[in-house]
Amino acid sequence: MSGPDGSTQSRFRLPGLKGRGCAWAADLVLPVGAPSIARGAVLTAGGRVAALGPAGALLPRVPADARLDFGRAILIPGLVDAHTHLELAALRLPPAPMADWIASLVRETRAWSSSLFLASAKVGAAGTLAAGVTCVGDVTASGESPAAIADAGLRGVAFHEVLGLEGDRAGEILARRLAVLERSHAYRGALPGQPGAGLSPHAPYTASPELYRAVLHACRERGLPAATHLAESPEEARFLREGGGDFARMHRELGSPAELFRAPGCSPVEHLDRAGALEGLRLAVHCNQTGPADWERLRRAGVWVCLCPGSARFFGHPLADAAGMRRAGLNLCLGTDSRASHSSFSLLAEAAALGAARPGLGAEELLRLCTLGGAEALGLAGEGVGQLRAEGAADFAVVEPPAGVPLAAEALFHPESRIICAVTGGEARFAA
Ligand SMILES: [Zn+2]
Repeated sequence: MSGPDGSTQSRFRLPGLKGRGCAWAADLVLPVGAPSIARGAVLTAGGRVAALGPAGALLPRVPADARLDFGRAILIPGLVDAHTHLELAALRLPPAPMADWIASLVRETRAWSSSLFLASAKVGAAGTLAAGVTCVGDVTASGESPAAIADAGLRGVAFHEVLGLEGDRAGEILARRLAVLERSHAYRGALPGQPGAGLSPHAPYTASPELYRAVLHACRERGLPAATHLAESPEEARFLREGGGDFARMHRELGSPAELFRAPGCSPVEHLDRAGALEGLRLAVHCNQTGPADWERLRRAGVWVCLCPGSARFFGHPLADAAGMRRAGLNLCLGTDSRASHSSFSLLAEAAALGAARPGLGAEELLRLCTLGGAEALGLAGEGVGQLRAEGAADFAVVEPPAGVPLAAEALFHPESRIICAVTGGEARFAA
């Protein structure tokens, strides 16, 4: 593995002098939303895609030292991981029932300094780039991850997390968080554009309906996206339906005021809908504990659903019915969640796991979930994130399948395929 400057450990001689036009070729280019190109190339200039087409036509348009031909490899849009917690990359927790796992996570990270969160987020940003991910929908509790995202040259949105069951303190909790948000987005990093900001009420079992409504109001006023964890576990569904159980015990152990929580007696999705906290939400993460009635509510409210198969596997949660959700007209994307609940940064492995669990989803659709689906969910598709097209963001990844595996979309999900390069804004940020 090498640094983003193409230092000597990389087997590639990387072009990418700042601002200079470069051509990147591979035996197969899959632009997403446009036909595949055999022996294709991407021409980049000024951080954008200047042209896309046959390598034979594009390579001669730049000097020889500004060309990179990956040969037997697949060039795809940079992957979009729509749900990460980069700042938890350095944390390892053993599998446990979710309530115990959350309690361990809170106890472990309570003592973390801001510099430790930043260092951990930098580990996460480097790991995610090495997985071919060029854009993240990241949740930050510390407020440190925007700087790590910016430094790494990643694109994305940092959703600032808020929690609190005390409805009468919702305004105060939000105001404190907005102050952190302003500070953490003042930092400037490697890309000309900064990671966008968003807000995230943690989940219906930790955030009051008043807090959800206050967040959504603030998001509407400021034009920010909002995301939340929703309907992740059977324990959450039970806590919302009847109260008590593991989550009540977790609240007591952590000293949070569980007595303020009134079980609404319905599903988590219906709870947010009744509370006026679904309309205006951009992204609902997990949604494992949902059925057709919930899907209709999410679809009507225009909420994107982010599935995290690896995290569901870690906890032993039944995975959402992705194929059913697609049939119901829901927009889907994928996330790896935190390394504290999933050891891998590989979004392609998430997609492969989803494909294996839900055979109705083909390779082309899985690739779309990992790219354009995430970009649309994060509101970045208009900039050309999530696909390769002229004038779009010059963000892409290069995948090398093992010998003998035919070059086709299916090869992206082969367990031995490897990411060999990740580029954002026309600059190589990772090369194997
Ligand atoms: Zn999460």
